[in-house]
Amino acid sequence: MDIDNDVPRMKRVSDKTNPMDGHVYWSWKKSLWITAHFLVGLIGGALTFSLDTFILFLVFTGLTACLGHSLGMHRLLIHRSYKCPRWLEYFFIHLGTVFGMAGPFGMMRAHDIRDWAQRHPACHDYLKHGSGIAKDGWWQLHCDLALDFPPKFVPDKQVADDKVYQFIEKTWMLQQLPWTILFYLLGGWSWVIWGICARIPVQLAGHWLVGYFSHNIGTRDWEIEGAAVQGYNVDIAGFFTMGEAWHNNHHAFPGSAMLGIYKGQTDIGWWVLQALAKVGLVWDIKLPEDLPYRKELHLISNRNQASGLAKSRIPDTL
Ligand SMILES: [Zn+2]
Ligand SMILES: [Zn+2]
Repeated sequence: MDIDNDVPRMKRVSDKTNPMDGHVYWSWKKSLWITAHFLVGLIGGALTFSLDTFILFLVFTGLTACLGHSLGMHRLLIHRSYKCPRWLEYFFIHLGTVFGMAGPFGMMRAHDIRDWAQRHPACHDYLKHGSGIAKDGWWQLHCDLALDFPPKFVPDKQVADDKVYQFIEKTWMLQQLPWTILFYLLGGWSWVIWGICARIPVQLAGHWLVGYFSHNIGTRDWEIEGAAVQGYNVDIAGFFTMGEAWHNNHHAFPGSAMLGIYKGQTDIGWWVLQALAKVGLVWDIKLPEDLPYRKELHLISNRNQASGLAKSRIPDTL
């Protein structure tokens, strides 16, 4: 396995570079961000609950999770699994920032360090969700990991030099502001509380829970030989994670725009992508069959009727 080339934005700095040695520390910024929203969301949310605020919460959660986090940050910015016009890319990345976790560079770095670490034979528990659920929750939602010898994060020049991305990164917490104002004008404080404050902790906790389960429990069709941790499909979460819970598929085919590759694996992100492709807003969509052969990838189930695997170069028996 050629770890250094598989995650191209992560560069080995020296022979000491490794995903194992390091310590977890309390991140006051991360902790304050989620705790403040949680308290306002909980108390304010209870006082202002109504049908319209709850519908706003559901719709805006779905929108930022699907168009922003899954299609924008993950399938486009991080994996470049399809192409679209620049204005649409910026809009998706703005929504992905409104999701509430980080800006474009922060998201790429957080994703890539895990991707890079998990491909090694062993990595820190923080990077593979390897602790018990309570400790992992505290770590992921309130703490950060400082590796003693981290790799260097080097984004592509085109993205690194992009003024729009630099602006979104610098102001990532303030990206909530236009929506806060819009919600206030449309529905007053109750819409702000439900559309912003209650939504952010739910999305952050949901993201962590899916991350926790999808590296610990679930079903698998593929195994990555020699990896510190395997990805699992969390079947019950496929629908409301917009397809992101088909994580065993994602570990096997990281560059595929389709995450629910087998029949019955609901992937709302994929449906939206197909609809956008039909009207010409999305093109060059990558499927598992378009990705380079990986010798460390082994099929461990007897199922290989994935939609995108029909012409796959990946052997179905190993
Ligand atoms: Zn993973
Ligand atoms: Zn990924």
